[in-house]
Amino acid sequence: MIPKRTALLVSLLLVTLALSGCMGRTSYWGVPGIYGSVFLSEGEELVIEVDFMDGVEPIKGALEQFGGEVEKITGKDVRIEDPRSFTYPDWKGAYDVSNESQIEEALTTIVRIGEKFRDNKNDLFPIMSDTVYLYVLYLDGKMAEEKGEIPGMVFSADSICVFPESLDSIHFGLDDIHFGLDSIHFGVLWRKGKEVARENVETTVLLHEFGHLLGLARRPGLEGYQKLAPEHGKHCSNSSCVMYWRLSWAATGNDYDHYLNDYKHFCDDCLVELDSYRY
Ligand SMILES: [Zn+2]
Ligand SMILES: [Zn+2]
Repeated sequence: MIPKRTALLVSLLLVTLALSGCMGRTSYWGVPGIYGSVFLSEGEELVIEVDFMDGVEPIKGALEQFGGEVEKITGKDVRIEDPRSFTYPDWKGAYDVSNESQIEEALTTIVRIGEKFRDNKNDLFPIMSDTVYLYVLYLDGKMAEEKGEIPGMVFSADSICVFPESLDSIHFGLDDIHFGLDSIHFGVLWRKGKEVARENVETTVLLHEFGHLLGLARRPGLEGYQKLAPEHGKHCSNSSCVMYWRLSWAATGNDYDHYLNDYKHFCDDCLVELDSYRY
C-alpha cells in the first residue's frame, strides 16, 4: 500500500502538471487550491505573515477573527506575525481587471511584491514540514471590474491579497439616519457599530480568499459539487456563505447590514466539501 504522504505528493504533482498550461498567471508558488489538503491536514502550526502597503494597515480585530476561523477549520495552532509595512513605487494602485493587459500587469507586480517582502516560504514539499505558512498582502488602491471592485484575491497556492480601500466605501445600513443634537450618544454607538461592521467585512474577505486556497471554487474536479454557481466562477450559491461571489448578504441588491453583527462563515455544504479535502 502506498503511504498516505506519498499518495498526496503524487496527486499534488499530477494536479500541477495537469494545470500547468493554463495557470501562467498564478504559477508563483503553485496553483491556488493545490495546498488545500496541506493547509487542512498537515503540520502542527500555521503561521500567517502579513505585509501591508503604507497607509492600508490591517484591522487588528479582523486578523484575529480570521486567525480564529483558520484555527477552527485547520485544527492547527495559528500564529499571526506582527504586520509590517512597506512601500513599492511600481504599484500604480488602480487597475481595471476586466482589461487583460492590466490584470496581467497587476498580477505580475503583486507577485514581485510577494517575492521581495515575504519572509516565510513553504518548502517545495510542505508535507515534510510541521509548520505551514500563509502569506497575506494588503495593497492600496482599487481593482475595478465590470460590476464593481474586487476586494481581495489569491495570487499563488499560499498567498492572499486584500484591497481594503474598496471596503471603506461600503455603506452598512442605517447610513441615512440624521442624528439630531439629542442623539449624540446614539451617534457614538452607531460609529462603533460601523467600526465593527468594517472589521467583519475585512474578516469575510480574508476568509473567502483562504477558502480558495483550501480548494473551494478552485479545485479541479469540483463539478460534482451541487452548491456551486457555475456562472460566477463556481462560487457558492448561498448568499450568506463566505464563499458567495459577492460581499453583500443578499442574492440581489446590496445588503451589508448583517456585518454589524457578524462576518460570513462557511455554509454547511462548503464545510462538508472542505472535509472531503482532508486526509
Ligand atoms: Zn472568490
Ligand atoms: Zn457555501
